Amino acid sequence: MKITQTHAIAFFSVIFMLMASISLFAVQKFQYSTTTLLASRTAEVIATTVNQARISYSARIAKLRSHPDITVEALYHGKPLSIPNPTTFAIELGEAVSNPETGVIVHTYSRYPFKSRALTGGPQDKFQHDALAHLTTSQPVFERIEELDKRQVLRHAEAIFMEQSCVNCHNTHPNSPKKDWQVGDIRGAIDVTVPLNGGNDKLAAIVRYSYIIFMAFSVISLLGMFVTLKRTHQQSRELDKKVKIRTTILNEMAYTDSLTLIANRRSYEEFSDNIINQNCQNSLPLAIIIYDLDHFKQINDQYGHDVGDECLIATVNAVSSILPKGNDFHARIGGEEFAIILKHVSNEELEQIIQRVLESVRKVKIPKHADIKITCSIGSTLAIEFDESTIKNIVKTADDALFEAKDLGRNRCIHKPYNKKQSKC
Ligand code: GH3
Ligand code: MG
Ligand code: MG
Repeated sequence: MKITQTHAIAFFSVIFMLMASISLFAVQKFQYSTTTLLASRTAEVIATTVNQARISYSARIAKLRSHPDITVEALYHGKPLSIPNPTTFAIELGEAVSNPETGVIVHTYSRYPFKSRALTGGPQDKFQHDALAHLTTSQPVFERIEELDKRQVLRHAEAIFMEQSCVNCHNTHPNSPKKDWQVGDIRGAIDVTVPLNGGNDKLAAIVRYSYIIFMAFSVISLLGMFVTLKRTHQQSRELDKKVKIRTTILNEMAYTDSLTLIANRRSYEEFSDNIINQNCQNSLPLAIIIYDLDHFKQINDQYGHDVGDECLIATVNAVSSILPKGNDFHARIGGEEFAIILKHVSNEELEQIIQRVLESVRKVKIPKHADIKITCSIGSTLAIEFDESTIKNIVKTADDALFEAKDLGRNRCIHKPYNKKQSKC
């Protein structure tokens, strides 16, 4: 199959589209993993902050627990000398940090909530249950991507460990459901939910629009390239056509006599060589007539070269007009010497044609120079069969006949049959 420019462009366009799609897929993958990483880091920072705040608050209020006037309890609201216990503090801090608009939710929950918080203090959904089941001292973080309210979210759970201050309080507190806490036990967890597509919608849109713009430019560029190449291809075809036409014209010029517009000597030699080389028996019998204008030098001398040219053109036109159509080859083989090759002619036909050539030349009239009389001498031959001779031998016979015609006084024809028998016209 011939590979054209169109095929090449189509192939590269498909490759290009494929690569662009792969790169878009890679960019989207990259964007997704960056978003997930960013959400994970955000969740980690929030969880750590809330937890650290809880730890330092817990350490701080441990000293206040023995204060006679201040009470530390979960239900501290409305009591002027009451402050929240560390869990309540962490829960309320989480609620304060949570933002329904951005979808960030912070929830602190316990494995063994106090009786006052029995309903809301424990794990609330499967993720929180799973987190408590997976969190260990060696793996204090548990993460999972989930769908929440038709939104993709990253859920991050960080373990809350019992410190000394917590152990002291919980193991003695009347509301505590567990009294054998030890330092380092996992008390509960801080669950931070961060939406994956919330804040990054703009980034996704930028990537999407950049890709659309990139593809649009690429398609326009490819189309431009396609049109340009198509046009170049068309132009080169037109140029090829012109070159062919010019070559044909140049070839014709190379085989045409520029003055008389009949075949030139080169054309005559190739034509006669071809007849012999092809050993074309179909051409037989073959006649060659060579005619030369008489005393042409005198016409040139008397009337000038231009008038001489006019005579040559008029003579050629006159002779051409009486030659049998389609079976003649008429060439200028010298300054004022011409050859006619005729195929399939009998002796009688040849004689008639020769007489008509002599007559037509005698009748040539040159406008403005009515006194000019043109005559020619003719040497002719007729080959009945081809032997081992070359065209040169046949031509030589006609040449010899022409020489004889000149010698005998011009304005006549001498015919020499190719079998070397001479005969007078
Ligand atoms: P002959 O009867 O023996 O052939 O005499 P001639 O004068 O024709 O022969 P010669 O060979 O002496 O002269 C041929 C002349 O033809 C000489 C040359 O000036 C003229 N001639 C050759 N080519 C051209 C041409 O293209 N234009 C013109 N005007 N004259 C030409
Ligand atoms: Mg002459
Ligand atoms: Mg001559």
